[in-house]
Amino acid sequence: MEELVSRIKKDGLVLNQDVLKVDSFLTHQVDANLMAAIGGVFADAFKGQQITKVVTIEASGITPAIFTAQKLQVPMIYARKAKSLTMNEELLTAEVYSFTKQVTSTVSISKKFLNETDKVLIIDDFLANGQAAKGLIELCQQAGAEVVGIGIVIEKSFQGGRQLIEDMGLPVVSLARISGFKDGTVEFLEGDA
Ligand code: 5GP
Repeated sequence: MEELVSRIKKDGLVLNQDVLKVDSFLTHQVDANLMAAIGGVFADAFKGQQITKVVTIEASGITPAIFTAQKLQVPMIYARKAKSLTMNEELLTAEVYSFTKQVTSTVSISKKFLNETDKVLIIDDFLANGQAAKGLIELCQQAGAEVVGIGIVIEKSFQGGRQLIEDMGLPVVSLARISGFKDGTVEFLEGDA
């Protein structure tokens, strides 16, 4: 997605060998128009696949996921990282190791929101080693829901996430694919959409 790649080139900050900071348009301050365009591209990529729910993980997956869900006209569910007092129903849970925070957390979705009739599109902001996506896939499997595919805003293709997910037989659609960081600049592969 050209608009996204240009924005990463303009505003992305390479923090170290592995981490890109995009807090001016995606992970903290959010460019709503760019997110709406991203939602449209994901919705197009998965149209005709009878998606019934879009699933993501808090916090930074929420904005691309909500715009995708709006375009597909289905609900969006975000897995929660901290158990809230109001979450007193039965839960689907999975353990997720966070690449950026370097802690493992239990993520959960209320059982009442996902079941075996659902066809799920998983959306997230970044794909690094695939642990967040794997945890979300596990939550869907516990519910008996079918995962149709994974939509990723920014994939770091030099890490193992895509391989992990493709090995599960699931398609990955990434809007920007980063091959590496060189001298503080971002290098790209061809994106999927
Ligand atoms: P994974 O679980 O695939 O290893 O990492 C994906 C998760 O870690 C995403 O949900 C995202 O929040 C975070 N993440 C991974 N790499 C980066 C990065 O380079 N920059 C930012 N801002 N977040 C990242």
